Amino acid sequence: MKIIAIVSGKGGVGKTTTTANLGAALAHLVKKKVVVIDANFITPNLGWHLGVNKYKSTFLEVLQGKVQISQAIHAHRSGAGLIPSTPSSYTIRSASDTIRRVLEELKGYDMILIDTTPGVESEVFPVMDISDGILVVTNPEPTAVADCHRTLKIADRVGAHVIGIVLNRVRREKYELSVEEVESVCGASVVAIIPERKEVRRSIVVGNPVVLNSPHSPAAVEFKKLAASLAGKKYRMKFADKIRLILTFKWRKVELKEPKIPVEKQIKEMAIEVTPPPPAVAIPEVPKTKKKEDGRKSSTAKEIEELLATLKEQYETGMLPENTYMNLKGANEKKLKELRRT
Ligand code: ADP
Ligand code: MG
Repeated sequence: MKIIAIVSGKGGVGKTTTTANLGAALAHLVKKKVVVIDANFITPNLGWHLGVNKYKSTFLEVLQGKVQISQAIHAHRSGAGLIPSTPSSYTIRSASDTIRRVLEELKGYDMILIDTTPGVESEVFPVMDISDGILVVTNPEPTAVADCHRTLKIADRVGAHVIGIVLNRVRREKYELSVEEVESVCGASVVAIIPERKEVRRSIVVGNPVVLNSPHSPAAVEFKKLAASLAGKKYRMKFADKIRLILTFKWRKVELKEPKIPVEKQIKEMAIEVTPPPPAVAIPEVPKTKKKEDGRKSSTAKEIEELLATLKEQYETGMLPENTYMNLKGANEKKLKELRRT
């Protein structure tokens, strides 16, 4: 079993598109037993990309031990399995061991692809940590490439194996950064160049990855090539692929009047500080002591007050993200009010 994390510094660059298409291509074309997992708890949408919108169980329920991982696998028409997520304030920053343990149960599969939250923070660190390799997705523009560079620095720090960069949404226009520039800035190889194609956007609208929805479109062919190479194979272009490539080829000649930003120089001058992930912290559970009439246990006002103080301390020391803190604070203050009223 090989675990591959699909990561990026910047959001919206195409991580989920890449995960969905690699999963579908590996299952459908390369005939691998593959599971794709949505580990983006903030904006999860891998299910949408695969046209699966009703979930019997989620990845969070697996991590919380509520269901077995096998119970959370949803069959996709490509043959791949999907473990979806729904938005939540859950933080996986201290969940490396839990993720590693639950994935152990997927030993019978060839490949596990994990879609992640954008960023270089601790939400991505555990996934990088437990993976056998990472694919960093970026676009050929300075901001995305600068974020890609930071992600690669974090990967280096956590000792993750970098498979390479997926350069997505390439239009081959003069103002884009070239493959050589991206490689030189980031210090890693570009393993796939995915063109910007309307077929990709259409495939997302209909919930069917482009490798299945428009299998001969140039973007689909590039995803299939990458999937084959991840499985140690070579994708041979079909006649229909070549015809499509010829028909869709457009010569764009956009001359630049101004000089491009010297990205490499700028990144170095910015002296980007990559902070190590903060220490792992588990969100404290509400202590349960007193029995309610219905037999369930509930906590005392004092315990909730203590919990609120702990949460505040963790938030102020930067160990708890703001949205998680606000959610937990709100929920517990409400409970406290109710307790005091009774
Ligand atoms: P991320 O997961 O990194 O946030 P997504 O995979 O959700 O990014 O992609 C964001 C949007 O970018 C998609 O909804 C789609 O409209 C567009 N997109 C991604 N890749 C391509 C592509 N190769 N061609 C055209 N549009 C694309
Ligand atoms: Mg995404």
